[in-house]
Amino acid sequence: MAEEANEYQGPATMEKITSLAKRRGFVFQSSEIYGGQNGAWDYGPLGIELKNRIARFWWKEMTQLHDNIVGLDAAILMHPRTWEASGHVENFTDPLVDCKKCKARFRADMIPEENLAGKICPECGGELTDTRKFNLMFKTHIGPTEDNANSIYLRPETAQGIYVNYKNIIQSTRMKVPFGIAQIGKAFRNEIVTKNFIFRTCEFEQMEMQYFVKPGSDVEWFNEWKARRWAYYEKLGVKTDHLRWHQHGSDELAHYAKDAYDIQYLFPMGWRELEGVHNRTDYDLTRHAEFSGKDLQYIDQDNNERYIPFIIETSAGLTRTVLMLLCDSYDEEKVVPGKDSGGSEGTAAGGSADEYRTVLRFHPAIAPVTAAVLPLMKKDGLAELARDIRGELKEDFATDYDQAGAIGRRYRRQDEAGTPFCVTVDYQSKEDGTVTLRYRDSMEQIRVPRAGLAEKIRAGIKSYKRI
Ligand code: ATP
Repeated sequence: MAEEANEYQGPATMEKITSLAKRRGFVFQSSEIYGGQNGAWDYGPLGIELKNRIARFWWKEMTQLHDNIVGLDAAILMHPRTWEASGHVENFTDPLVDCKKCKARFRADMIPEENLAGKICPECGGELTDTRKFNLMFKTHIGPTEDNANSIYLRPETAQGIYVNYKNIIQSTRMKVPFGIAQIGKAFRNEIVTKNFIFRTCEFEQMEMQYFVKPGSDVEWFNEWKARRWAYYEKLGVKTDHLRWHQHGSDELAHYAKDAYDIQYLFPMGWRELEGVHNRTDYDLTRHAEFSGKDLQYIDQDNNERYIPFIIETSAGLTRTVLMLLCDSYDEEKVVPGKDSGGSEGTAAGGSADEYRTVLRFHPAIAPVTAAVLPLMKKDGLAELARDIRGELKEDFATDYDQAGAIGRRYRRQDEAGTPFCVTVDYQSKEDGTVTLRYRDSMEQIRVPRAGLAEKIRAGIKSYKRI
């Protein structure tokens, strides 16, 4: 599918997101001191917290909240026959074209059709090569000899680790169809085009859930999972006008799929896939039964039946969700001078004269830092008191402590990191044991007794609504 015109009109641009991500320690280029490694990125202190929290949010949603979905962590290295059975050795290819003049390389399905038909480079107008197939799997060797007998692949998707364990899970958990297996893990693809920051990378993480159902009930379950996955993004607080469904046409359907929908997100570069919901039929288990010689039929003892279950897959990119949430939460806002100052002393005690702020409006459940504790002044015992309060909050929340610079500047720093709550400790705190709790989105400040702080933050996370 050639790319469509971009409708995006928000404040985020890829340049701003990439530069904020680096400046604040979300994401760094891999091996940057050597000039970087294409398609690979490193997650810094804020980035790993964000990624872990998204993973935990998904995990809870997909396992803890369902009685019939269990987790798995399968190995990245799998028996090479797996990829013959799955069809990846034969079919997991992208169509590739090169420009003979400027040497740019494209995925043929991602450039306008007229360029492809006329063999004209969309960048320089030079002549394009014929389209050729390119397998996306990374191949390496296991053991000391580099011959074909020792070839092994880095998995290009986590799903196959679930299929080959399906019988183990049934035997060890006594699960009955319908049931699901969830997994989060790394996947590797030798992607041709890796632009747009962490959107498409060679090493990435997926969050996949495979739901095993009785043949004939697959269409109903497919629709059910479509609804559930949409609701998940609503729960995360994602702008719903930036989400839409895209159904795969017959030319886009993977070799295993009967029906497939993508949830697309309106990124700064346009609508792009975020997650796929696929009806994979009985293709995968039938093929693994054939290639392994093992009987992978499900035995339904209650109804005295045997069959190969159909599989409904929900496959989301974890690292792609990190990018989506950075874009979705990014905002720039004018601040009324003096409005967003700290403590009971107001602007006189170091209030901000900043005119604009950049703020990441993360849902508090996934924000890398939940609460930052800020003493209004370092002196007069305020720093000690603030550290003490932080020590108390640490057990329950991810916290930060910052005593450097004017309070308004410190709020700006926390806004940019997406911290939903700031706790400011001032002179009044020493007298009456109250602190200021400042809300990131509204910049509203309320006074709260220290003893009720954790409860107030917990309530703020639970009742969070995006403005
Ligand atoms: P595309 O056609 O864009 O290459 P795909 O349809 O092959 O992607 P799937 O195989 O359905 O993608 O993968 C499921 C999910 O995994 C995607 O929705 C995406 O979020 C994530 N994903 C796939 N490839 C990459 C990648 N190279 N980098 C980051 N995330 C990826």
